[in-house]
Amino acid sequence: MVDRVVILGAGISGVGAAILARKQGFIVFISDNNPIKKKHKNILEKHQVEWEEGKHTLDKMLNASEIIVSPGIPEDSGIIIDLKKYNVSIISEIEFAFRYTNARIVAITGSNGKTTTTLLLGHILKKAGFDVLIAGNVGVSFSASIALRDYQYIVLEISSFQLERIKGFRSELAIILNITPDHLDRYSNSFEKYVATKFKITKNQTESDFLIYNIDSKTVSKVKTNAKKIPISLHKYVPEGAFMENNNIKINLNNKNMTIQELALQGKHNAFNCMAAAVAARVFEVKDSIIRQSMIDFQNVEHRLEYVLTVHGIDFINDSKATNINACWYALESMHKDVIWIAGGVDKGNDYSQIQDLVEEKVKSIVCLGESNTNIISAFSKKVDSIVNALDMKDAIKQAYNIANKGEVVLLSPACASFDLFKNYEDRGLQFKQEVRNL
Ligand code: ADP
Repeated sequence: MVDRVVILGAGISGVGAAILARKQGFIVFISDNNPIKKKHKNILEKHQVEWEEGKHTLDKMLNASEIIVSPGIPEDSGIIIDLKKYNVSIISEIEFAFRYTNARIVAITGSNGKTTTTLLLGHILKKAGFDVLIAGNVGVSFSASIALRDYQYIVLEISSFQLERIKGFRSELAIILNITPDHLDRYSNSFEKYVATKFKITKNQTESDFLIYNIDSKTVSKVKTNAKKIPISLHKYVPEGAFMENNNIKINLNNKNMTIQELALQGKHNAFNCMAAAVAARVFEVKDSIIRQSMIDFQNVEHRLEYVLTVHGIDFINDSKATNINACWYALESMHKDVIWIAGGVDKGNDYSQIQDLVEEKVKSIVCLGESNTNIISAFSKKVDSIVNALDMKDAIKQAYNIANKGEVVLLSPACASFDLFKNYEDRGLQFKQEVRNL
């Protein structure tokens, strides 16, 4: 009898898993309790996948040999609670895809910097002539990609949600960039649970694998692993690993040293991401000259400290992807001019005290955009010259432009999610750029 696989969630990762499961000869049923996009339905039909939308029918799931759950579905959702009463195996999409590749895998996680580091490492490996897939949270389905063909190297961006349901998933190289409070609503407000989930990235690693980790972070340093640990630090010398010296990156690995002087990416946080990617590339024995050149010609990712335009001497920077305080801290930290800060949106429980000193030092005025203004106003009203409210992005840009003087910078780094006024952070960033260009 052919095994039947059930997939929950028909977004990019669920539909990708369906394609791979069909390729492997399974009978596939996919269920989403929201409407499924037309283009996804077309793909499912093409691959002869039965689907349902707007509901989850438990009876259609119980004879499955395995249930693949999309990252967006939390442990406490009704359907997962129901399924757990039965003896069915529940896994994530990366767990499933992992079984069908022979690639050397790099898995990158962290609260911030995942996409940047993933794309940067992918860029270096491609430049070195390796056969590389860049996939995962970056928006490219791991499963759908390897259903087409296998690769020699796969660089995966992995969120904590993807790690929740892994069993045997193992990467030759894992990277934990940082762990700061985020998404705690998904982990019963427990930072420990969130950390434990992130640490699962190294759970199945063996002595022949590598774990690159942030030794500056007390939380990350506590990680337990069988892999060889390679620390990276912005603040202190490490004998084996990477560190900063006079604004240069120094790497010591296997009795060989290398220095990187020039980085396309700005800001300390990006120097850190560069260290992580460079060390990973060194583990795979990419030539120093290629690593150095890749650091210079890497194009920054959209919506991450992205310089947009200078209008009458005022710089505009789009950091729409900064959806938490830590990301925002690094954005403000890297500003060298007086800042008009556009902030706000849907607050996920921000502790603004962490950036009070930085705001006092760098920010002249705040333009509040979105739902969470009261917290911002109470945290910063005594720290800045003025705080104004904006109705939408057009209004925010207009007000910021009026407040700003030549030589200052307008920074969109919201520290909040975007779902009140915008479809997502990309929409917020695109509107920002559009309105700046309209000035
Ligand atoms: P992720 O994929 O983890 O969300 P991104 O690379 O998309 O990370 O960056 C998200 C936000 O975090 C951006 O505002 C970016 O400037 C900031 N950021 C990037 N790297 C780091 C880092 N190492 N530490 C803190 N913030 C970072």
